[in-house]
Amino acid sequence: MIECITHWDRIHPILDKATGQVATHKLSDVMLLPPVERPGKIMGIGLNYGSHAEESGQASAEQMWFTKAVTSISAPYATIDLPIVSHQLDYEAELVAVIGKRCRHVDPDSAADYVFGYCAGNDATIRDWQFKTSQFTLGKSFDTLAPIGPWIVTADDIDPQNLAIKCFVNGEERQSAHTSEMIFKVCDQIAYLSKAMTLEPGDLIFTGTPGGVGAARSPQLWLEAGDRVRVEIEHIGSIENEVVAERRPS
Ligand code: MG
Repeated sequence: MIECITHWDRIHPILDKATGQVATHKLSDVMLLPPVERPGKIMGIGLNYGSHAEESGQASAEQMWFTKAVTSISAPYATIDLPIVSHQLDYEAELVAVIGKRCRHVDPDSAADYVFGYCAGNDATIRDWQFKTSQFTLGKSFDTLAPIGPWIVTADDIDPQNLAIKCFVNGEERQSAHTSEMIFKVCDQIAYLSKAMTLEPGDLIFTGTPGGVGAARSPQLWLEAGDRVRVEIEHIGSIENEVVAERRPS
């Protein structure tokens, strides 16, 4: 997929011509894999919706970035592990930007040119591990904590700052917001990140979650084995993941 994204300008017209000439399958007959199975990197921004910054009792004047390990990637309908070492599994519905072109030091006005497309994602988090130290990395990086999909909608088809975003647990609405509420817009995020690092095709950017996470509720509400968590984003679709107890490798 990363090869396909890298050479998209060449591949796109070929695919367009093939429309209607290739075999089609029902969604129910196929198993969807993560649209990018092994991105070069996953960057996530924290506290990027006012509602979430407020419920967290924190705010950041600077963009606050962390990484998720690339091995945390999971398929749009795969299970999420409730870890052996923690019960504090939480959800975070997020719009995920997929980088399309290599870039460094881009300004916000041209940042959109480097986005391939968007998918829905769950920046699932193990909260106690997130806050054991000042570094979020481990709490964000357990296996299966980054389900994405169900596909990538290309950037020409979508306005990333004009989408309804929701999260449901067992059908009950837990988060409901609009991407226009982001504090730092997707273009600002790419511009800022690119001051520090080269962004490459297939890199994923988790663009922040709105208010309503389980950790901020009173009492706190953690995901349990058997729960089904769905992230739904307007014009993209939804991913849905059942929580299962992690099994120790034999
Ligand atoms: Mg997040």
